[in-house]
Amino acid sequence: MPYKVTLIPGDGIGPEVADATVRAVDATGVAIEWERVELTSKIIEAAGTPVPQHVLDSLDRTRLGLKGPVTTPVAGGFSSVNVALRKKLDLFANVRPVHTLPGLKTRFDDLKIDMILFRENTEDVYSGLEHEVVKDVVESLKIITRTASIKIAEYAFDYAQRMGRKKVVAVHKANIMKLSDGLFLRCCREVAERYPWISYKELIVDNASMQLVMRPETFDVLILPNLYGDILSDLAAGLVGGLGIVPGANMGRDHAVFEAVHGSAPDIAGKGLANPTALMMSAGMMLTHLGEHDAAKRLHDAIGKVYLDGKPLTGDVGGNANTTQFTDAVIAAMK
Ligand code: ATP
Repeated sequence: MPYKVTLIPGDGIGPEVADATVRAVDATGVAIEWERVELTSKIIEAAGTPVPQHVLDSLDRTRLGLKGPVTTPVAGGFSSVNVALRKKLDLFANVRPVHTLPGLKTRFDDLKIDMILFRENTEDVYSGLEHEVVKDVVESLKIITRTASIKIAEYAFDYAQRMGRKKVVAVHKANIMKLSDGLFLRCCREVAERYPWISYKELIVDNASMQLVMRPETFDVLILPNLYGDILSDLAAGLVGGLGIVPGANMGRDHAVFEAVHGSAPDIAGKGLANPTALMMSAGMMLTHLGEHDAAKRLHDAIGKVYLDGKPLTGDVGGNANTTQFTDAVIAAMK
């Protein structure tokens, strides 16, 4: 029986990296029946909701999604698809592994960077609760709950335990937001006490940003509230070669949706230049989630081989190949 997976190519570079990823996953030999669901900013505007019912219906059938980016309008327009999807399906944990790709030239390629970020995915300032109090004065609500904070901390520590990770850092700004980030920290501490063999530390988000740039190789597991997780995952991506290569997973109790950290990159959309590595590696995480460890390893090894060879790579990582040439090379490396 093939696995059923909802494929949401999205818009911008989404369809290009999604098609490339489907080719690479199919080349692993794992039988997947892709249920392709169109979701673009135009469809959302017409439907009047960021997650139309046909998308939810498909994900309810398959429980598993591979998703490209969907453009979110800035300062107005409809609210973010990702935020809506994560809330509707309670995809509470956003998991983003960031590691050095051997062979890839970066500012930090002499270091071995290998960290994993666990970003709380459902609340914080992403609650979307904003209003104008009086003219020219607006208020944005930052929601932090014990339930969501404990859930992300438990998820991160459980992962650290299973994968033999040694150090967990919780990132916060509880010196200023004493109540909200204070609650987040107390929950992380409470869970940390159950794992006395794992080192637990806390870093204020501004210091964490500096330490990540100064000593990225010392980080192992990070737990972050939603906003800091969003910002620091882009920072961390920049340490290892950019958004084109960092994968991600949105995990819930009943559903899992795998997607790259990057957005729809409108500046290069439709030109065949996008790097599909990030979505391919997200698909690798999906194969691992399915228990298809050999296939996941073959896919990761094939991507790794192309980077070690140093060609053909896409422009964002210093090459001059297009999406198809890179994808062909990954598939050839698998054979
Ligand atoms: P969002 O807020 O939707 O996450 P963003 O502001 O983080 O989006 P992106 O769309 O991810 O922005 O793009 C940021 C920059 O990184 C752009 O210049 C884009 O060209 C580049 N970029 C992102 N993803 C890729 C990719 N897969 N391949 C090549 N370049 C990429």
